[in-house]
Amino acid sequence: VLTALLGIAATLGLTALVLVLVEVTSILLPPETKFGIVFDAGSSHTSLFVYKWPADKENDTGVVSQALTCEAEGPGISSYVSNPAQAGESLRGCLEEALALIPKAQHPKTPMFLGATAGMRLLSLKNNSQAERIFAEVTRVLNQSPVDFRGATLLTGLDEGAFSWITINYVLGMLLTYTFSGEWVRPPEATLVGALDMGGASTQISFVPGGPILDTSTEATLRLYGSNYSVYTHSYLCFGRDQMLNRLLARLVQASPSGPVRHPCYHSGYLATVPLAPVFDTPCVGASPPGGAARNITLEGLGNPGTCISAIRELFNFSGCVGRKDCAFDGVYQPPVQGRFYAFANFYYTFHFLNITSGQSLDSVNTTIWRFCQQPWKVVDASYPEDHRWLRDYCASGLYIFTLLLEGYGFTEQTWPSIEFRRQAGGTDIGWTLGYMLNLTNMIPAEAPAQKQAQSF
Ligand code: AMP
Repeated sequence: VLTALLGIAATLGLTALVLVLVEVTSILLPPETKFGIVFDAGSSHTSLFVYKWPADKENDTGVVSQALTCEAEGPGISSYVSNPAQAGESLRGCLEEALALIPKAQHPKTPMFLGATAGMRLLSLKNNSQAERIFAEVTRVLNQSPVDFRGATLLTGLDEGAFSWITINYVLGMLLTYTFSGEWVRPPEATLVGALDMGGASTQISFVPGGPILDTSTEATLRLYGSNYSVYTHSYLCFGRDQMLNRLLARLVQASPSGPVRHPCYHSGYLATVPLAPVFDTPCVGASPPGGAARNITLEGLGNPGTCISAIRELFNFSGCVGRKDCAFDGVYQPPVQGRFYAFANFYYTFHFLNITSGQSLDSVNTTIWRFCQQPWKVVDASYPEDHRWLRDYCASGLYIFTLLLEGYGFTEQTWPSIEFRRQAGGTDIGWTLGYMLNLTNMIPAEAPAQKQAQSF
């Protein structure tokens, strides 16, 4: 190569050599990689995601991939009420990991976001100034980093649902595809995928319905790659897994205030003494602990899935929807579910644990959950030594998910197979973070890519 270059220099002169060198370098070097960082400040924990994409394909679809995930030390940021500075400190470890992965020269050009969800929504309802202090502390720490920090925001439930919907459909290439004949086309609407998300404090449903969305407060209107989408989305605060468990336990405690509490969703033989205060210390439980917050209560498992389902049903207000078409529960408008769905986060964790994520029929899923609930605690405890943290709650979450999907959202035996229980799609974790970053960096243009760009794809 050197001899050839010297030959060119001799015959054409130095300018030509420089031009040739520039051309050769652009062929040999991979295109520049860009990065973006998003913190997902959830109710129970904070995760960090680093995304990467080739700079020259920024506005193409499906080009962003997940380069790193990191779980921050400690609980969710909403738990740091008595020590807000620690909320900021808890993010440092993951931030360092992200900075080590991204080349130094790229740091100033790397956008970074923090989005907080239902845990902080609940805290701001309970005590807005505490929530603001926590936001100030995480902002202070993230502002010190060398990347382009664009702020810490409280996502609305509508945002959370809509951004997850964008993530899935972007990753699966459902928004735009490039055909063999060299054109960008919008895939048929029927291939769009709905999103079912469940965190610790809230749960979201998002999909494009078959007909119009009659309540505009549940509509996200998106213009992506030249097409308009009307996405139905609703977030149910206090219907996340941890808050559902709190509400359930609080009702059982209220029913037998002097204890012990006989819990139908815990396995038979399960026995524990737990503090009462955390169960009632949430706006989702609109009552104070009977007999005072300083008490402990004894829990005894009954292992009775039938009674457990009845107790779970009490957490929903189904009567508000009686006689109303297009209504899910708690009086919330919802058109009939339509198309394929991906169910992730707690939907996935629970069903993965119970080994029912491989397209099992409704009947088989039901039987598996019931059988699991009926196993004595000593058998469950001995079979899953590594899963201790959530072990006692999988029965309740399994039955809760079942009730929510069927009686709440209205899935049936026929539509059940359209739900896939997944954590990832195309190597990327499913959640709101990718859609959020794509939106805030304008990486999904409102208009379809020009033909010139299409040809270089
Ligand atoms: P959030 O912090 O709001 O995003 O919610 C995360 C939820 O996932 C919480 O309810 C956690 O308790 C739950 N979770 C995380 N990992 C697992 C797991 N492996 N099994 C069961 N639940 C989990």
